[in-house]
Amino acid sequence: MINSFKKIPAGDLFIRQGTAGNTAYIIEKGRVEIHIVKTDGSKQVVGTRGPGAIVGEMALIDEAPRTANVIALEECSVIEITRDDFIRRLQSSDQIMQAVMRILLTRYRDTLSRSVIVSEAPGFPSPEDLERQFLEEAHTLDGLLMENEFKAAMHNGQLSLHYQPIVSLSTGAILGFEALMRWIHPEKGFISPAVFIPMAEQSGLIVEASKWALDEACKFIHKVNAGAEPEKYVSVNFSSKDFAEESFLEDVLSTLKRNNVLAAHIQLEITESLLMHQPERAKVTLESCKAAGLKIAIDDFGTGYSSLSYLHNYPIGALKIDQAFVRDMLKNQNSFELARSIVALGKNLKMTTIAEGVEGLAEARALLEMGCESAQGYYFAKPLAERDLLAILEKSSNFATKLA
Ligand code: C2E
Ligand code: CA
Ligand code: CA
Repeated sequence: MINSFKKIPAGDLFIRQGTAGNTAYIIEKGRVEIHIVKTDGSKQVVGTRGPGAIVGEMALIDEAPRTANVIALEECSVIEITRDDFIRRLQSSDQIMQAVMRILLTRYRDTLSRSVIVSEAPGFPSPEDLERQFLEEAHTLDGLLMENEFKAAMHNGQLSLHYQPIVSLSTGAILGFEALMRWIHPEKGFISPAVFIPMAEQSGLIVEASKWALDEACKFIHKVNAGAEPEKYVSVNFSSKDFAEESFLEDVLSTLKRNNVLAAHIQLEITESLLMHQPERAKVTLESCKAAGLKIAIDDFGTGYSSLSYLHNYPIGALKIDQAFVRDMLKNQNSFELARSIVALGKNLKMTTIAEGVEGLAEARALLEMGCESAQGYYFAKPLAERDLLAILEKSSNFATKLA
């Protein structure tokens, strides 16, 4: 469980001084009162908090008893953040951030325990205002709302995959497909992957989403390849969070097995940043993937890092030329040269190249002339729903007329 919404009835004492807790609450609606029961039994109100404030945050750090009572003054809606979730997020952030966060919260408790009450100095922003400001600056509430909605979306059929054909530039034959995730929200409609994928990566929800996507893509490619020659592959996007899972390859292989799909029919799309940030680990994992028969492609190649020296160390089968270069390669000499260099680099390292974002015949021809083997883009086909694509494949799996 990452974080979830909860309603708290008016009058409910949901944080009890002296008891251990493992959850902090961000208030979405309603107001709460924080008070301390002093050693003589008297009650001292610390303050009240409303939407955008956080209470019980010290429980995120350790199991020490709660330092105050928190009571709902009216019905409240809160987002729960557990210690486990918080620690997991901390572990994926910068080391110094981790240390400073822990130290600050620990000192805060220390200060509180020494003083009878926290006073709010006049003229200085109140803790409530500061908290709200910090959370707003980090777009925390919007982000958490989206995380919750995405978590639900994974289980109630709002997610689907679209597939974009990857075409041989020399013959027009469809070689494979890239699987691209789609989220249709019941009220908000289409939500761009450019918005929800980064959220899913940051929150760690991507791991579950990627598992779902691979399973779905396996079912698709199984249908496509049933009785059809030559066999095609499906290319699935993975993030560094997926690769960080100890059981990544094991999970992938068991999904393939369950769906009766050969490893050769799956391509893993990863980014350059994965290789740069976890070079040794990535090498080991990728080598096992290669040994298992999976294809490996580097996505958005050319945008990430200028250092090419690392490439030959990894068992990479394909480089995907980023669409930014392909888009204006015929108008911009630099983009043209970059695309050409990537194709040449691929040849030298015995990797194939896949151009992304091909929108016209002229680009397709120029890429073929450079020696680029395959391409995907609106010129051939947009990413399509499975049903629409299967209907097209029934008639033909060749775009030769588009290249004539
Ligand atoms: P990407 O992996 O680089 O995917 C290619 C993007 O280019 C897709 O955008 C596709 O619809 C778009 N595209 C394809 N042909 C053309 C063209 O001719 N012209 C133009 N202008 N665009 C074209 P989409 O589907 O919006 O996905 C955006 C990004 O979201 C993807 O970029 C990928 O980074 C991420 N993404 C999508 N699905 C998944 C997924 O299942 N898992 C992960 N981890 N990331 C995903
Ligand atoms: Ca991709
Ligand atoms: Ca790409």
